[in-house]
Amino acid sequence: MPGDMPSNEFREAGYRLVDWIADYLAHSERYPVLARVGPGEVGARIPDAPPAGGVSFDQIMESFERDLVPGLTHWNHPSFFGYFSISASAPAVLAEFLSSALNQQAMLWRTSPAATELEERALGWLRQMMGLPECFEGVIYDTASMSTLHALAAAREAAVDGVRQEGLTRPGGRPLRVYCSEQAHSSVDKAVILLGLGHSALVKIPVDDAFRMRPDALSEAIDADRRAGFAPLAVVATVGTTSTTSVDPVPAIADICERESLWLHVDAAYGGAAAVLDDYRWVLEGAARADSLVMNPHKWLFIPFDLSAFYCRRMDVVRQAFSLVPEYLRTTEASPVRNLMDTGVQLGRRFRSLKLWMMLNYFGTEGVAVRIREHIRLAALFAGWVDAAPGFERLAPTPLSVVCFRAVPPSLAGDEEALERFNQALMDAVNDTGRLFISHTKLAGRFTLRLAIGNIHTMERHVRDAWDLIVSTAARLAD
Ligand code: PLP
Repeated sequence: MPGDMPSNEFREAGYRLVDWIADYLAHSERYPVLARVGPGEVGARIPDAPPAGGVSFDQIMESFERDLVPGLTHWNHPSFFGYFSISASAPAVLAEFLSSALNQQAMLWRTSPAATELEERALGWLRQMMGLPECFEGVIYDTASMSTLHALAAAREAAVDGVRQEGLTRPGGRPLRVYCSEQAHSSVDKAVILLGLGHSALVKIPVDDAFRMRPDALSEAIDADRRAGFAPLAVVATVGTTSTTSVDPVPAIADICERESLWLHVDAAYGGAAAVLDDYRWVLEGAARADSLVMNPHKWLFIPFDLSAFYCRRMDVVRQAFSLVPEYLRTTEASPVRNLMDTGVQLGRRFRSLKLWMMLNYFGTEGVAVRIREHIRLAALFAGWVDAAPGFERLAPTPLSVVCFRAVPPSLAGDEEALERFNQALMDAVNDTGRLFISHTKLAGRFTLRLAIGNIHTMERHVRDAWDLIVSTAARLAD
C-alpha cells in the first residue's frame, strides 16, 4: 500500500535524529565554524536525479553526515561571532519539530484556531517584555525584511489615495520620499524598490559620531524635499543598527514624524531584545509613538531562523492594503475572528508562534533576561580588552553586544589602505583556523572588525579565546 513512513520506523528514525541533534547542540564546538568546502562541492556530492525506489532512513542520514554536514556553517557554534550571532535554543528546536508534524496552516482562523490565537498571545507576551503598549497589534512574518516591507506598504496605503487600485502611476502624483540613516539595513532599500517608489526615493540621513541618525539633518532633508516638490512619506529609525548597534534618537525622530505627518517605522530587529532588561528599556524610548515596529526573535532572542515580530498600531491600514478574500476562502464565523491571511502578502503561514511560546515558557522572562545581560557583559569585557591593548582601537561605542574594532600596528598607523589590508588579512587568518568566525563592516571609510555576541552557548572562555587568537595572529602578521 502506498502511504507514509510506517509509524514504528518513524519512531526509530525520530529517536535517532533527536540523539543526533542533542549531540550536535551540545558539541557544535567540534566543527570548524565556517564550512570548509569550495563553491559547487556540496552540489557535486548530490546525485543529479532522485532515487527511483527510495532508500532507508539510515542511508539518508549517512548521506547527510557525509555530504551535507561538511557544507554547514555552524551558526550554533559558541564562537560564531559574525554578522549577528543567533541561537537555535533547544526548546524552540523541539517546537519546530512539533510544528512541522502538526502542519498547521493558519491562513484563516478556522484552518488553525490554535496557531491564530497563540500568535496573538505570544506576541502579546513579547510586547509586554519589551514594554510596548497594547495598542500595538502583532503579526509574525518570516524576516525583518518582510516586516519593513509591510510597514512601508501600509505607510503608502495610508498616504496615497487610491494606491491599491491605481498604483503609483496616476498623473500629477508627487514622487514619494522615505528617510532612514546611512547606517540603516539594506532591507529598507529593498522595500522601497519593491514598492515601486524607486531606489532614489530613499534618502539616507547622516549620522553623528556615534552612528545615530541626526534629527536636525532629517528635518532639513524633509524641508528641502517639500520645497523641491517631493512628498515625504515615512521615516525608518533603527534601534540597533547592523554595523555598530547604534540606537537612533527615536523620541526626536517621532517629534518630527508627528509634526510632518509621516509614518514612523522602528527597525528594532536586533536591538529590541535588549528592552527585556529594565535598565535597557531606554533602547525603545519613544518607540511607543511609532506607527510600526519590527523585532526579530530569530536574532537575539534564541529562536531558530525564522521569526520576525511585526507590531503595528494601525493594523487596519495593513489589512486595507492586503486583505483580499476570494470566494473559496470566504467563511462565516458566528463571532468576529482574526484571519491572518488579511495582514500581509502571504496566504499560507507556518505555526511559528509555537517556538516563541515554548522558548518563553521554558526560560521564563527572567531566564531570557539573564542571558541577554550576560551577552552585554561579555561584549563590554571584550571592548575593555581592546581599549587596554596597545596596537588595537575601538571604532564605535558598544551600547549592546557587538564590538567594532581594528588592529593598528604602530608601523601602519595613519596609512588607511595598509590598515585595511592588514585587518582583512587578520580576519581571514583567524577565520581560517576554524576556531571562530568574525565578520567586518566599514565605518567612516575604515575597515572594521565586528565581534557579535548573541549565541546562547557563548561563554566567557569563548570570548577570551577569540581575543587571544586575534592578538596572537595580529602579532604574527605584523612581524
Ligand atoms: N534590520 C536590521 C537592523 C538588521 O540587522 C537585519 C539583518 O541583519 C535586518 C533588518 C534584516 O533581517 P532579516 O534577515 O530578518 O530580513
